[in-house]
Amino acid sequence: MKRIGVIGIQGDVEEHIRALKATIAESGERGEVVKIKHRGVMSSCDAILIPGGESTTIGRLMEQEGMMEEIREAAEEGKPLLGTCAGMILLAKEGDEEVKRTGQRLLGLMDVRVKRNAFGRQRESFEAMVKMSIFDKPFPGVFIRAPCITHAAPGVDVLAKFDDHRIVAARQGNIMALAFHPELTPDRRIHHYFLESIRDT
Ligand code: GLN
Repeated sequence: MKRIGVIGIQGDVEEHIRALKATIAESGERGEVVKIKHRGVMSSCDAILIPGGESTTIGRLMEQEGMMEEIREAAEEGKPLLGTCAGMILLAKEGDEEVKRTGQRLLGLMDVRVKRNAFGRQRESFEAMVKMSIFDKPFPGVFIRAPCITHAAPGVDVLAKFDDHRIVAARQGNIMALAFHPELTPDRRIHHYFLESIRDT
C-alpha cells in the first residue's frame, strides 16, 4: 500500500488531499494520504507533495520543524516529490532577486531558477490551457500569483512552457514542479501521473 504525504503547513492542503484520495479510488489501488505537519512522519511516506500557498511561510515553518532536511533525504532516496506553485519555488536551487533579497530558504532540489509572481499584478489569477509534453490533450492550468521557471539546467525535462521565457512545468528525475494548481480542477491527470511515478520506483 502506498502512503502519500502532503506537507500540511499552509495553503492548498485539503484540496490536494481530496484530489489524491479520489485519484487513488479511481485507480482501484490501495493507498493512504497523510498530512505532514511535524517532523518524524516523512520517512514513512512513499511520496511527498508540497502544495501551493505562501512559499515564505511554508519554507519558514518547514525549517523550524526540521522538515527541510527530511524532504532532502526523501529526495535522495528517490521518492517522488511534487511541488505545485509555492511548492515549485521551494524545490528550486535558485530564486529571483526578491527571493535573494529576503533570504528566503529553498530546498534546492531542482537545478532551476524561479521567479515569484511571474505573471504580474494585473493577472493575479487566471486560467489557461497548458500544452504538456506528457499528455495528449492540454491541461487546464489554474494560475494564482504563479511563479515560473526562468532557467532550467540540462538534465531538467521541461514539460510545459507558457511562452518562450516562462517554464510552467518541469521534471528532474523523481522531482516534478508545476507553476499552476492541478488540485483546483476536476482534471486529475497530474495526480494520476504522480501516483504512477510511485509505482515506477
Ligand atoms: N506567489 C506565491 C509565493 O510566492 C505562490 C502562489 C501560490 O502558491 N498560489 O509563495
